[in-house]
Amino acid sequence: SLEEKQHKINLLPEHLIDQIKAGEVIERPASLVKELLENSLDANSTNIKISIIENGLELISIEDNGDGILFEDLPYAFCRHATSKIERFEDIYNLYSFGFRGEALASMAAISRITCSSTPIDNPEQGGKIVIHGAKEMSHTPLASRKQGTSIFIKDLFFNTPARLKFIKSKTSEKNAIKRVINAFILTNPKVQFSVKWDDKDKNIFKPVEDTRLADRIREIILPKNSPNKELYEFEGEYEGHSVRGFASAHTSKGNAGKSQYLFVNGRLFTDRQIHQSILRTMEKVWPFGETGHYCVMLNVPPTQVDVNVHPNKTQVKFFKANIVFSLVSASIKKFIEENFKEEVAPQNE
Ligand code: ADP
Ligand code: MG
Repeated sequence: SLEEKQHKINLLPEHLIDQIKAGEVIERPASLVKELLENSLDANSTNIKISIIENGLELISIEDNGDGILFEDLPYAFCRHATSKIERFEDIYNLYSFGFRGEALASMAAISRITCSSTPIDNPEQGGKIVIHGAKEMSHTPLASRKQGTSIFIKDLFFNTPARLKFIKSKTSEKNAIKRVINAFILTNPKVQFSVKWDDKDKNIFKPVEDTRLADRIREIILPKNSPNKELYEFEGEYEGHSVRGFASAHTSKGNAGKSQYLFVNGRLFTDRQIHQSILRTMEKVWPFGETGHYCVMLNVPPTQVDVNVHPNKTQVKFFKANIVFSLVSASIKKFIEENFKEEVAPQNE
């Protein structure tokens, strides 16, 4: 009867809870790529191969040469709140790895078809392979003598959450979002080799570079392939334990659309309108009027001076001494300009 219906509170079945929670962690294909790359880097990989088909909706595959997962650990890797990265609550204050919530793989597994094969570094004969479709384990078999590392194939993302699938499909920006995530890792991990393949065609390989040649990798990522001017302006500065190292392109073009512009704090990509605007405004002195360029600016601040929101999908951070960060960035650029453009800088305003 109606009355009964009104008072009925349902306990959601487990698989439904999984799908709902998965949406918080895996909002879109780009967030999934981010989680997978963090896992590969947490596992000390030095060579990572990425393949994306149909904006990640058909296939996302990541192959790494990291520490690997034991056969018997494989199912746990895909369980919610299963992690090898913390044991006690205090550990989250002492974190050197990206992940620790143990949610990412479980979330992906709830909303896609996953095949994961892994061979552990110390026990190459104790590897395994697991297949999971929408949180349901289809098979789990031992696997020996494969080369060290983990490969994860994620197919049919959002196949069982059609509303989300429809939402993502209607967006044309997804490829750019994935690109941006991948580029961020390539920029901050110069010693790791990355290979990136799109729709089984265009393949880009980024060879490892030494720290001293970081500019080479940055140039490869932030400059358009056909840009005639490959020069990068490099600036740096330090103040009260905060430091900045930045690269801005000499190459410019009209407006700011489609520019590769990256801000990092302590190795994490973040967005900040104020810092971004201040970079553009300071660079105006060397960039032609009405044109902007590309940049990569890396900040290092004491971990106690920044609140990196650890929610997987947030890119905003909170600096406790925001004006230090702010002034440091613009002062470093100004100093560079003063030292390098003394004569040439003419007043731009007309
Ligand atoms: P978290 O990274 O927060 O621990 P995940 O769900 O992302 O949670 O991963 C669960 C666990 O699976 C990790 O703690 C790690 O032990 C293992 N794992 C995931 N990806 C890899 C990988 N590429 N190489 C080795 N181990 C991995
Ligand atoms: Mg993780």
